[in-house]
Amino acid sequence: MRLFATLFALLLISAHVQAEALPVTEISPGIYVHQGVHEDLSEGYRGDICNVSFIVGSKGIAVIDTGGSFKIGQQLHEAVRKVSSLPILYVINTHVHPDHIFGNAAFVQDKPAFVGHSKLADAMELRKETYLRINNNWLGADFAGSEIVKPTLTVQDKLELNLGGRKLELTAYPTAHTNTDVTVLDSKTATLWTGDLLFVERTPSIDGDLKGWLAVIDQLKAVPAQQIVPGHGAVVKDGKTALNNEQRYLSTLLNDIRASIKKGEVMEKSMETAAASEKGKWVLFDIVNRRNVNTVYPGLEWE
Ligand SMILES: [Zn+2]
Repeated sequence: MRLFATLFALLLISAHVQAEALPVTEISPGIYVHQGVHEDLSEGYRGDICNVSFIVGSKGIAVIDTGGSFKIGQQLHEAVRKVSSLPILYVINTHVHPDHIFGNAAFVQDKPAFVGHSKLADAMELRKETYLRINNNWLGADFAGSEIVKPTLTVQDKLELNLGGRKLELTAYPTAHTNTDVTVLDSKTATLWTGDLLFVERTPSIDGDLKGWLAVIDQLKAVPAQQIVPGHGAVVKDGKTALNNEQRYLSTLLNDIRASIKKGEVMEKSMETAAASEKGKWVLFDIVNRRNVNTVYPGLEWE
């Protein structure tokens, strides 16, 4: 009986230490990406909806976004360790959203620099209580161990990180998808990580400034990228087309809401009609588009 209990305890410990590795794809030499699933960020969600990546240089590793829970972070950590034993030097968060940041806790032991927008720490603090509460409700036991880990190194405008043999150029933006958006460009392969400044397949969701976001998309089109890892959806070689699709959705939404307001339609009506021409082109359209109208309409009433 005692032996059985000891064995059981050992089993529990090993299960805890050895998280299953997230499946990743090496999209270019030294660049690994795990693509999240297209589920809504709400009840029933398992913390694995955004893209998480890591980049291996000759000196060390940078992780870009960590998933929606400590558990997903551990699985990402395991995926990193299957590939390389080099030190994890940087953990970069592309923005404040919970599906991108709650795996941070799984990397604390590595003592990396946690990197984010200069406004990220404040945004995390402001949302901390709500994020912990609702994600705990949504994920239940799968959320155990998740915590807010704030940046220790911030990006004001530009920041260069050296992984050995490859440099990463980070850029911080004014309010667009959120007020904490950062992109990463790998010098060696011209791979651009946009965070949620680019959605592929999945309906873009707004939590910042629609007009600001449209302006940033123009900036992103000018980046000489060979491929883009979006915040959600497949990695794309033809970044321009993907950015054009997103710009078309967002400008349609903007124009339709403006027209709706001009006609004197209330927001509830606008939620039914705005950007209806885009339905069928995006995953999770009905849920996300309604939320977007809800976010954007009040601000446009006073234009
Ligand atoms: Zn987001």
